[in-house]
Amino acid sequence: MGRCHSRVDPSLSMHFVIVGNGVAGITAAFALRKRDAGARITVISGESDYFFSRTALMYAFMDRMDLRDLEPFERRTYDDQRIERIRGWVIDLNAGARCLRLGDGREVRYDRLLLATGSVPNTAPWAGLAGVTAGVTQFVSLQDLEACERLAPSTRRAVVAGGGLIGVELVECLVHHGIEVDFLVREAWYWPMALAKEEGEIIAAHIRKHGVKLHLGHEIVEVQADAGGRVRGVRTNQEAAFACQILGVCIGVRPGVDWLRQVRTPPALGRGIAVSADFRTSLDGVWAAGDCAEFRKPDGSPLVEQIWYSAKRQGELAARAMLGDAVDYQPPLFYNSAKLFDIEYTTVGAAGEGSFFHQVPGKESSIRIMYTEGAVTGFNMLGSRWDHTWFERWIGERRSPAFVMEHLHLAQFDVEFGRLPLASARAAFGGGG
Ligand SMILES: Cc1cc2nc3c(=O)[nH]c(=O)nc-3n(C[C@H](O)[C@H](O)[C@H](O)COP(=O)(O)OP(=O)(O)OC[C@H]3O[C@@H](n4cnc5c(N)ncnc54)[C@H](O)[C@@H]3O)c2cc1C
Repeated sequence: MGRCHSRVDPSLSMHFVIVGNGVAGITAAFALRKRDAGARITVISGESDYFFSRTALMYAFMDRMDLRDLEPFERRTYDDQRIERIRGWVIDLNAGARCLRLGDGREVRYDRLLLATGSVPNTAPWAGLAGVTAGVTQFVSLQDLEACERLAPSTRRAVVAGGGLIGVELVECLVHHGIEVDFLVREAWYWPMALAKEEGEIIAAHIRKHGVKLHLGHEIVEVQADAGGRVRGVRTNQEAAFACQILGVCIGVRPGVDWLRQVRTPPALGRGIAVSADFRTSLDGVWAAGDCAEFRKPDGSPLVEQIWYSAKRQGELAARAMLGDAVDYQPPLFYNSAKLFDIEYTTVGAAGEGSFFHQVPGKESSIRIMYTEGAVTGFNMLGSRWDHTWFERWIGERRSPAFVMEHLHLAQFDVEFGRLPLASARAAFGGGG
């Protein structure tokens, strides 16, 4: 490795370097600038020149937004804020010399480093996959979006594997482009990690209503290519075969830390980069935040949060920690919201020992209130929009399910035509549900 070049102007304060321009990295960069006008701040990313909203990838694929519209900030903001950008993949970290090396040989020296390298898709173990040279894609990065856009016009049929949020988003995009989709979900119902069977069945029926062939209990065992190397089909553990010209692999993500296992001075790693509650890694001068960071819960078990709001909050707090503030990150109550085709989904908190479930008659809408020892622990709501702050409050106040049912209307957004009628849920609850 060559000598590390530092261009730090000694008249300025520290050089903060951030690897990753996702929401964690960029939030940290702006937070650092806000507090330290003189600092030199550099953000490095292999994926894109500018921060973009990963959660909106599907809207670009569905032509509802231009790629440029995925960028929440004007491009000139980075210059205005004096945030230097470097495009490239970091392949080495020498924490002793406080130096990073990029794939093209460039070296970047830092005083303080934030690793915000996000998530990468899980790798599928299927026979034949390695021999396929075209048509297989994930749906996580800008490069995946480009691949999908390139492949869609020459695709009549697609297979998407993986019954989670990213899978259903890719399915919706492909359907939008007039492609016939076989959606393979290995589990017994859609998204068991997040939904109970009842909700999984509501979503499954809705997905099928959109013309998608949803196959539960199917796991790919073999991928086949045509003579040119493009995917032509898959075989599953149910001895079923599905023809396709696109295979979407959406079988989950893991922290983007594989590259750190080969570097000169790797930080302590579990599933992600091991950090304490102030985002410090095991290496001096190195912090980590966002999807790639692994915390310890009070009971000692590992926690990797792979959601947007947590990555943003972590980026903000990590910046403060890098500036020397005392920071003690307490993971928030789990909260997420999404749209599964046309069905709104809001989830807050965690499962309890029991739950009250009600599907509103004649609607693709349901309420699930989870509780333990008479106090609510979580909510899983389908089919209408909810203000999660009420749910968080009721969980924090350890309210009873009866109290929540009585006040549930408060948590409904006042959207025209969008309010869910609660009478049937209250009647079912009153009836001992
Ligand atoms: C399709 C999709 C839909 C989603 N929908 C939701 C949702 O509805 N709600 C929700 O809460 N979350 C959602 N998520 C998850 C959410 O997007 C992530 O939690 C969030 O983006 C994590 O932000 P991050 O900054 O930690 O990492 P990322 O956004 O993953 O950014 C990491 C950056 O690090 C860079 N990088 C990594 N390694 C290197 C390296 N070695 N050298 C240089 N650069 C590197 C990459 O280029 C990348 O730009 C979704 C994710 C996807 C893919």
